[in-house]
Amino acid sequence: MTFRERRATVVATVGGVQVGAPHPVVVQSMTNTDTADAAGTAAQVAALARAGSQIVRVTVNNDEAAHAVPELVTRLHDMGVNVPIVGDFHYNGHLLLTKYPACATALAKYRINPGNVGSKRRDENFRSIVQVAVANDKPVRIGVNWGSLDQDLLTTMMDANAALTEPRDARDVYIDAMLESALRSAALAEETGLRHDQIIISAKVSQVQDLVETYRRLAARCDYPLHLGLTEAGLGSKGIIASTAGLSILLAEGIGDTIRVSLTPKPNGDRTEEVQVAQQILQSLGLRSFTPQVTACPGCGRTTSTFFQHMAEDIQAYLRERMPLWRESRPGVEEMNVAVMGCVVNGPGESKHANIGISLPGTFEEPKAPVYIDGKLAVTLKGERIVEEFLVILEDYVASHYVAGSDRANTEVQGTT
Ligand code: SF4
Repeated sequence: MTFRERRATVVATVGGVQVGAPHPVVVQSMTNTDTADAAGTAAQVAALARAGSQIVRVTVNNDEAAHAVPELVTRLHDMGVNVPIVGDFHYNGHLLLTKYPACATALAKYRINPGNVGSKRRDENFRSIVQVAVANDKPVRIGVNWGSLDQDLLTTMMDANAALTEPRDARDVYIDAMLESALRSAALAEETGLRHDQIIISAKVSQVQDLVETYRRLAARCDYPLHLGLTEAGLGSKGIIASTAGLSILLAEGIGDTIRVSLTPKPNGDRTEEVQVAQQILQSLGLRSFTPQVTACPGCGRTTSTFFQHMAEDIQAYLRERMPLWRESRPGVEEMNVAVMGCVVNGPGESKHANIGISLPGTFEEPKAPVYIDGKLAVTLKGERIVEEFLVILEDYVASHYVAGSDRANTEVQGTT
């Protein structure tokens, strides 16, 4: 399959991060802390940014949260974390952004849900938020959501559909109502003074097929940068798989300029998982590179011990741990492939295709592990310290192959920014 080129979109700038083709698809995330707790939120934002989130959204739902935003941004600055912070507003954004000008200034972008800006004074409230954005030269994301669609608009469109001799399917009208809400709001924002390149659009739904249909239609109707995400994707593997399925189809068609994977974490779970999943989607599709990839076989009856699984896991963990440092000092390392294979059946072959690979002894095989570097057998490891010795070889490989300023590093970095 060949991927379609990403459609040429207008480029929006969010706190220095450029969103829209031809720029790489941007990974973003959202905190789940109480924003009024500036210290706690700063810690989570820092963790998300360290994991690779390029933009982080925070809830701004009340006076305390709006009051805390400038402190949050200052704390992040003091921690050396310069990730753009986006404010997520519902119901009272027009009030908070005008009452707390320091909050409006500190945020890099405002997210507005047109379904949640009030019904009687909908347009007026929406315009108030946009006016603050214009005054502060900030972009906005017009984020329509299936679960909070503008009910007046939906009712009008459903009624008009029902009056047709051959009414369309209700789902079809629902999708069109989402697009209508987003695009009418975008037009209103531009009428109010926001530039065309200060608008990003999203139209999130919770079912994969609806997501694909919605974004295909949206991409055909506008050139705004699009934020992709399956809303309320869910828990654990269900959330990961559903998000991957929906986002991959669209990204493969060239649709989507920034993504978020909305996973429900386990209680006290690691929020950065959503960033890792988003990165892995982009890396698996070959759209961006973030971290060296470990190719590991699934194991089978030839690998009766857990040694092989532990080794694959240890190497993956080691690569993740080293990446924050390597990202700065070892440009291009995110392109590296490491193979960890369970036995001689596919081990040597797969290892030869990787930059560096190890083929462990399967059951009844001679207890030795050949290591291949750039396709050639380099050394054979034996004994209890195979993992440690392999990691030393890995470090040497990284140090000698990914050097700042070298041609190789420059080439690879250009290809993966
Ligand atoms: S490489 Fe060996 S251990 Fe791994 S799945 Fe294939 S046959 Fe099984």
